[in-house]
Amino acid sequence: MRVKGIGEAEGDLLEAIRKILPNILIISSLDMHATVTKRMIDNCDGYVGYKCVPHTDTYETGIHAAKMTIDCLEHNFIPKMSAVHVPFIVAGERSETSVEPMKSYTDLLRKQELNKNLMACSILLGFHWGDTEENGVTALVVSRDSQTLSDEKAME
Ligand SMILES: [Zn+2]
Repeated sequence: MRVKGIGEAEGDLLEAIRKILPNILIISSLDMHATVTKRMIDNCDGYVGYKCVPHTDTYETGIHAAKMTIDCLEHNFIPKMSAVHVPFIVAGERSETSVEPMKSYTDLLRKQELNKNLMACSILLGFHWGDTEENGVTALVVSRDSQTLSDEKAME
């Protein structure tokens, strides 16, 4: 979301929460069309994005984020997140996940998440109508304890 005078609202909100509660775990779900910014990454411990367009998996994604949060709290760890920005835009009308190329990408994400060390694998497409500097695709991976694994899988 964009706000005049602030820029992206999510990063601003997360940064404000971090200032008030610097040691609290923050994990969130994201719309697959989210434009992921550095400020969003710097002020959150983990994200999981919708895997379906149209977004028929909003409830499941919320449960996924809640399970990630519970896992971290019960086992007392901060997950390792990696985000690789790809300078590429996918039009919303071309992001339908029941057809190619998104069908294969979605299948790959679900397959990767079978790895017990990977908490969430997401492809966030950005919002091309938003026409912002940070717009583009972001491959985002959250692992339980390995920054290297998150970095490698996000790059993959
Ligand atoms: Zn969307």
